[in-house]
Amino acid sequence: MKSGKTSATIILILIVSLSVSCGGDGASVQPYSETRFALGTTCSITVYRKKDMKHLGEAFEAVNRVENLMSVNLEDSEISGLNNAAGKGRVELSGETFSLLEKSKAFAAVSGGAFDPTVGPLVSLWNIGNEGARVSGRREILDALTLVDYRRLELFPDTSTAALPLEGMKVDLGAIAKGYAADAAVKVLRDAGVPYGIVNFGGNVYALGERYGEGPWRIGIQDPEDERGNYVGIVKIEDQAVVTSGKYERFFVEDGVRYHHILSTLDGKPVDNGIASVTVVDRDSARADAFSTLLFVLGLEEGMRLAAETPYLRAVFIMEDKSVYTSMDPGTWFSINDDRYTLKGEER
Ligand code: FAD
Ligand code: MG
Repeated sequence: MKSGKTSATIILILIVSLSVSCGGDGASVQPYSETRFALGTTCSITVYRKKDMKHLGEAFEAVNRVENLMSVNLEDSEISGLNNAAGKGRVELSGETFSLLEKSKAFAAVSGGAFDPTVGPLVSLWNIGNEGARVSGRREILDALTLVDYRRLELFPDTSTAALPLEGMKVDLGAIAKGYAADAAVKVLRDAGVPYGIVNFGGNVYALGERYGEGPWRIGIQDPEDERGNYVGIVKIEDQAVVTSGKYERFFVEDGVRYHHILSTLDGKPVDNGIASVTVVDRDSARADAFSTLLFVLGLEEGMRLAAETPYLRAVFIMEDKSVYTSMDPGTWFSINDDRYTLKGEER
């Protein structure tokens, strides 16, 4: 079995190499970066003024807080508590966890369940990215699917409590909580008066402020077929998140077939619709994270439609046939870097 690994390090190198230049006052700009392992991936935060380094620890504390609340890999997290109580009753949750569950349910509704926070039984069944991942059988997939339905996740705002009515139901916030953790880290930096910086949590990038006060940051979108740090194109952003969901992030290969970690809530299998990756640009990193997964599952046509009608959000779809689509005129915010890929905007 061959396993995929995160491209976090590759993305970081690209950003940093693009970043070292001169500040507005002509002084050389130096990245001050700290990298830790959290959320099952490599998490880096970079600031560009020495005096801002003292806030990095506090920003990572926010990440740890989110992980401790929302990880399904930690037995005493709030989400594990909710899952362990499935079929038994309500569980009280912090405002943060409750509010992310509310958002997740809203994103599930807007996508008709393509994104579903109760996908946990399927994620556990396939176990992709972990030892022992294997192709699941038809019967076990159907059994898991009977437990996947965001409409059955009960949320009670008055008491900040939640319940999963059926034993075996399981919330998994893997498609949104990394983005939320990036928002939490950015909030710490922003509140501390840090004017610019880069947060990169395994492909969830947030570019804080302008690039050293000098206009947009340039963030590379990973070539889905190439783990060596090549990128298909560049998005230019200021004070926004860029989040990518790709088939290449976590997968295993069995009998020559690649099984990746973004799962269809219709047939319970890894989504196979011609999309190689979806990148979303948004002000809200949690929403960008949820939408990168959600648009991937919806597919090109429906995904493009939903992205186009969602205020502020922009999306880049990279297809397996190397065609590239943007949900909004690429204008100056997106450009292709690799001539093996073709932008299909003009044909829309
Ligand atoms: P995304 O596209 O953003 O999300 C894909 C993930 O979302 C899948 O892995 C699955 O978990 C879930 N998903 C799949 N299909 C759907 C769907 N249709 N609707 C909704 N969700 C779906 N990894 C580890 O190896 N060890 C850890 O200890 C660990 N802890 C983590 C703790 C937290 C709080 C978070 C947020 C993540 C953690 N992870 C851990 C990583 C996690 O398991 C996922 O692999 C990761 O979040 C996937 O992110 P992505 O950006 O690659 O893909
Ligand atoms: Mg996501």
